[in-house]
Amino acid sequence: MRQSKTTKLIQQSRTAASHANTVNLPMHRASTVLFDSLAHMDEVQKRQGADEQIPTYGIFNMPQALALENTVAEIEGGYRAMSFPSGLAAIAGAILSCVKSGDHILMTDGSYDPGRRFCDSVLKRLGVETTYYDPLIGAGIEALIRPNTTVVYTESPGSNTFEIQDIPAIAKIAHKHGAVVIMDNAWATGLLFDAFAHGVDMVVQPATKYYAGHSDVLIGLVIANEKTWPQVRDTNYILGQRAAPDDCFLTLRGMRTMDVRLKRHAESAMTVARWLQGRPEVARVLYPALESDPGHAIWKRDFNGASGLFAIELKPCSPQQLAAMIDGYEYFGLGYSWGGFESLVMTAYPTRTVNPWTGGQLVRFSIGLEDVNDLIADLDAGFARLG
Ligand SMILES: *Cc1c(COP(=O)(O)O)cnc(C)c1O
Repeated sequence: MRQSKTTKLIQQSRTAASHANTVNLPMHRASTVLFDSLAHMDEVQKRQGADEQIPTYGIFNMPQALALENTVAEIEGGYRAMSFPSGLAAIAGAILSCVKSGDHILMTDGSYDPGRRFCDSVLKRLGVETTYYDPLIGAGIEALIRPNTTVVYTESPGSNTFEIQDIPAIAKIAHKHGAVVIMDNAWATGLLFDAFAHGVDMVVQPATKYYAGHSDVLIGLVIANEKTWPQVRDTNYILGQRAAPDDCFLTLRGMRTMDVRLKRHAESAMTVARWLQGRPEVARVLYPALESDPGHAIWKRDFNGASGLFAIELKPCSPQQLAAMIDGYEYFGLGYSWGGFESLVMTAYPTRTVNPWTGGQLVRFSIGLEDVNDLIADLDAGFARLG
């Protein structure tokens, strides 16, 4: 029967491994899995070696992790997925799956900063060179490809500055030269951007954000296509990576409502973004869903919708004015991360080096599920404090 992603989010992995017909999976916390006999143990090991999803030990194919991984793989549109203890661990795991000493990777200048730092420290130490590229480069990326380029890493929209990348154009060139295309799909999730259909080979999904959705868990996934799955699996099993069962449970529970949450996030974010566009304190709103955004045309071509994270560029103001605005917010909590049910605010300092940020102070908002009029009133009072 036809099953849309909305239905998959609700139905998928619901009763698998359940012994009591409960709607949700029972919890399995485990290191050891018991076998009936030596022959049984041998047979199960062989089947696991052949990539069957059979639990043999706490790190291998336990029910919570499998349920989460298989559902996220379907939502993102890939072949298989593997869970990690954080989104950052998933970034490292995806890249490490594709490189060896002497290789070269291309990374978007708009990428999540800790991922950049992984490239500049650990990867560098392992003899892998990173070149950052303009997120808007498109097919022009061909000029940066070297014979030893094995990865083209993308993130769209980019962290903090929200550039929309021409993923199909970049992927076409990368594949022509045999490089794997990795994409951080945190902002859109597989509901709003079908990365694999646009040429991506491996998706990094920091499920800490919209999938989990409740600011109570750190978790990441790497979703691979059929070609790249063996390298993701083999590299990361041996690195001991897998999310814990309680974290998988919370993420599965959170993602059952991701579709409805995202719709509300998007609707409120658009209302707030348009209101901010009319404010004299704001130089620019950086949100691809706005017609005025430079990335709007490609966003409209490739995405199915927007989520609730965007930034504003303020007109010049003093640090004291900025602090007065932010410190006094009633509903916008000041803190890292985003994608939870509650609204958050943060100042942003882009770490781009190819095109260093030359604009004014950026303030990033994660629009939560509160009443949008309350949020606007909070922002309005903030501008009054800014003076
Ligand atoms: C938060 C974030 C990550 C990392 O996720 P964690 O689970 O916090 O480690 C990766 N990429 C992007 C774009 C993010 O915003």
